[in-house]
Amino acid sequence: MAKKSNSNSGVKCSFCGKEPSYTDILVPSPLGDTYICNECVEQIEGLLKDYYQENPSLRPATSSSAKGNTKKEEHFDTAKQLPIPAEIRSFLDQYVIGQEDAKKYLSVAVYNHYKRLSQDKDDVDIEKSNIIMVGPTGTGKTLLAKTIARQLDVPFAIVDATVLTEAGYVGEDIESLLVRLLQAADYDVSKAERGIVFIDEIDKIARKGDNPSITRDVSGEGVQQGLLKLLEGSIVNVPPNGGRKHPEQKMIAVDTKNILFICGGAFDGIERKIAQRLNTHVVGFTGASVRSKVDSDNYLKYIAPQDLKSFGLIPEIIGRLPVLVHLDPLDKEALLRVLTEPKNAITRQYEKLFDMDGVKLVFAPETLEFIVDKAIEYKLGARGLRTIVETIMIDPMYETPSTDIKELVITKDFAEEKLRKAYLG
Ligand code: ADP
Repeated sequence: MAKKSNSNSGVKCSFCGKEPSYTDILVPSPLGDTYICNECVEQIEGLLKDYYQENPSLRPATSSSAKGNTKKEEHFDTAKQLPIPAEIRSFLDQYVIGQEDAKKYLSVAVYNHYKRLSQDKDDVDIEKSNIIMVGPTGTGKTLLAKTIARQLDVPFAIVDATVLTEAGYVGEDIESLLVRLLQAADYDVSKAERGIVFIDEIDKIARKGDNPSITRDVSGEGVQQGLLKLLEGSIVNVPPNGGRKHPEQKMIAVDTKNILFICGGAFDGIERKIAQRLNTHVVGFTGASVRSKVDSDNYLKYIAPQDLKSFGLIPEIIGRLPVLVHLDPLDKEALLRVLTEPKNAITRQYEKLFDMDGVKLVFAPETLEFIVDKAIEYKLGARGLRTIVETIMIDPMYETPSTDIKELVITKDFAEEKLRKAYLG
């Protein structure tokens, strides 16, 4: 980009003829032989805006982030334009397998959240519906949050709670999670203020009362305290490029009142606390019959706020995360579906890659079962499926483009051999 320059090399705006000294910016064409000044760009932008307003159907489907966000603002101007819970849910169904309860709770919570944003100022004060998702790793917590943000077309940031520390300690300040959101919103503060932040591994900042490690406890409870003000809604000064704050730095003020926070964590061992609570509640004459109704294979579905407290989240944080959702472990059948069904399922992605080379790729059904069995055996869950498929497919992906093969069937024997070589080698 040619910034304002004093050179008199004959450069001028090819549209209005202004010379560099009369414009702020002159942008050269990719060919380098013509230029356009900032004023002409603004005029053209105005013309395009009017044109698309008159002909909305001609608006390009793939919008730039700025345009996408305009669409979003139009989207949420009134509650009527919001996708209703059933619509949010059916969008989630395209990408996320199972997790029926979680999808229902999330759809309602997100719907209410954005309804809250479009309500009249001096009406009943609807409180924020921040969400906490509890479930084993690799069951779709991040995927759910990401998919919702994609449907709503709002800025979305994922932050790992383990890197956050109280101000003054080594690690990232809590405000850093807003930096990610600002970046996702191209530094448009008002858009970031309506975005979604996913805080992963929230269980890792649990207070560990009997933990001998003092530092762990500092980062745990201190970070929880720090998160509180963000979750409940306050104006936070954020260093634009992240990192530590320092006095001379220019800050961006971000209001977190309308940011939806979704927290996720595996909460390893919380089942024991749930089981304990259920057992203490079912003593007495009716105890045996109530106990027999409890699904002891999946205690998580009975999770209650007090279990989070026993695990080490402080009550104030629990209070700021009123929507408590559990995720189910993915069994063999669910993993098979993860492999093949979602819109961007792993096998579909590989089929597409081969298709682009004119090759029809087929995974034999027993190969799919084998991949799932291995993911279960290695205790990798859904997260491992991709790694396993990648290991099997690396040689065919390398070799096929040099051949004139038109169809490639991945058999179980072939998959088995590739894994054996890779993992034993
Ligand atoms: P976590 O619960 O640890 O946040 P992720 O959402 O990151 O898990 O899941 C890891 C990967 O596994 C996802 O990118 C996705 O490919 C796959 N996956 C996990 N759960 C599901 C699910 N329920 N449906 C479809 N894919 C899933």
